Amino acid sequence: MRFERYGIGIIKGLMVTMKNFLRPPITLQYPEEKLITSRRIRGNELVWQVSKCTGCATCAKSCPQGNIEIVTHLGTENNYVVDKLQVDTGKCMFCGLCVESCPYEALFMGRSYERATYRRRELVLSKEALELSEDRQPSGYFYPRIEVLLPRQTLLLYWDREDGQKLCWFPWRKKANRGRR
Ligand code: SF4
Ligand code: SF4
Repeated sequence: MRFERYGIGIIKGLMVTMKNFLRPPITLQYPEEKLITSRRIRGNELVWQVSKCTGCATCAKSCPQGNIEIVTHLGTENNYVVDKLQVDTGKCMFCGLCVESCPYEALFMGRSYERATYRRRELVLSKEALELSEDRQPSGYFYPRIEVLLPRQTLLLYWDREDGQKLCWFPWRKKANRGRR
């Protein structure tokens, strides 16, 4: 039988506690605080630029899930006018094939990732809901020229870096920095 000195275990435990006490926190108060996502995020939405869309339906044909519904009619200038463009994001696997296949660069992956809902029907996005807008900006996925314009991703360990070089090791400084975001 092996005897340990009395109290060694308590000291070991306290050392672990002290180590973690002095370490900077690597969590944040989601959803009040958020990290910046990857510039190439495939969020759970698609973004559609109506002015570039020709109604060719290549995106719908490329979708392995048969997820994109598109209805067009012939316009006056021998063009297609899109009457309906609908995406069921409840079935979507966010593979990005529709985005990659669009020959006119009219479809993008979105950046939103907080679209959970209680009703499946609310996951179906109509063409109005898909349109590019101030709040619905495209991700840099498949589009490097968009990617370079987006802010760099922050990781939990780095989220408090102020100059992109130094880690903030002091919890009280971290707290002060939050107000500046
Ligand atoms: S991301 Fe993939 S699954 Fe979703 S609509 Fe596009 S092709 Fe279909
Ligand atoms: S592939 Fe592009 S241009 Fe063609 S219908 Fe889809 S979004 Fe429009």
